[in-house]
Amino acid sequence: MSTRSWWGWGSDEAALTSAEIDDLLTRVAALLPDHDFTDHPPPAPQSLPVPPPRISVPATLSAVFSDDVRERLCHARGKAFRDVVRNLHGDVSHVPDLVARPRTETDVIDVLDFCSANAVAAIPYGGGSSVVGGVEPRFDHPAVTLDLGRLDRVVEIDDVTRSARIQAGALGPQIEDQLRPAGLTLRHFPQSFEFSSLGGWLATRAGGHFATLYTHIDDLTESIRAITPAGVSESRRLPASGAGPSPDRLFLGSEGTLGVITEAWMRLQGRPRFGTTVSMGFDRFHDAVLATRAIAQAGL
Ligand SMILES: Cc1cc2nc3c(=O)[nH]c(=O)nc-3n(C[C@H](O)[C@H](O)[C@H](O)COP(=O)(O)OP(=O)(O)OC[C@H]3O[C@@H](n4cnc5c(N)ncnc54)[C@H](O)[C@@H]3O)c2cc1C
Repeated sequence: MSTRSWWGWGSDEAALTSAEIDDLLTRVAALLPDHDFTDHPPPAPQSLPVPPPRISVPATLSAVFSDDVRERLCHARGKAFRDVVRNLHGDVSHVPDLVARPRTETDVIDVLDFCSANAVAAIPYGGGSSVVGGVEPRFDHPAVTLDLGRLDRVVEIDDVTRSARIQAGALGPQIEDQLRPAGLTLRHFPQSFEFSSLGGWLATRAGGHFATLYTHIDDLTESIRAITPAGVSESRRLPASGAGPSPDRLFLGSEGTLGVITEAWMRLQGRPRFGTTVSMGFDRFHDAVLATRAIAQAGL
């Protein structure tokens, strides 16, 4: 089991070694001779002046909440370049007071009830790969980050209509691993695939840039279930609909502002039976762009 890095992409175990960093520095410095390449090793979480939480872990939900400093730092930011830079500089402004990891949808409701009763902001969190500050409590108000990572199952597969009910906290590889035995795939491959979740893809209207054709999460969504301040919202599961405004469109791209998505029915495809990889060389960059467009427009 690997440990997610608190300050950057991936896991602690997969971080570059100091020899690899030296090698990289030598190569990049040769390309950019007049730049400052001061190394900023990641500070130890316990050494940083993280303010104590302004709220206490509720006794009835102690199995769900954490006030651990590393856990709070881990959830303070997304993974944009500016986030990594601020972490490496030990900038610890705006850290959530508590982190909640609900095990069930009922836990999600209990956490939101606690937040409402105590006037605490709740920030949904999937894989934390946001690049637009979406998971950051950038305000001076007590905040709980609601990490959906424990809701990681493909609950139901309907292989007649090729769709699946999937919990919102499931990360890309967890989804594909659970669909593979049925010979099916969601075929949504953002570059952040390894560390981003279904709920995050829906809440940010993600694009699967590692695939062609229908790769936008909008195209793959059949229905969404969410816990909102007004109760449970669940759209009807239909193969297609042209009746009235689509309620799913409200949640797609909502960045967690309308409620917490707990699961969704997603459209699937058969897994490809044959696969091959080929590299093509072009003399001019523009020719490569034209070839890429021709392939995309061919509908492959
Ligand atoms: C290296 C890298 C590559 C990337 N590549 C792509 C790419 O190819 N295509 C692309 O579209 N984006 C890409 N992104 C951006 C990012 O990965 C996507 O926005 C992704 O969809 C976020 O998913 P997440 O689970 O990490 O969400 P998080 O970062 O955890 O959250 C993102 C937003 O969604 C909200 N949210 C999360 N879960 C829920 C939920 N269950 N209910 C309600 N709201 C929720 C959060 O509050 C936040 O506002 C990339 C980012 C990085 C760092």
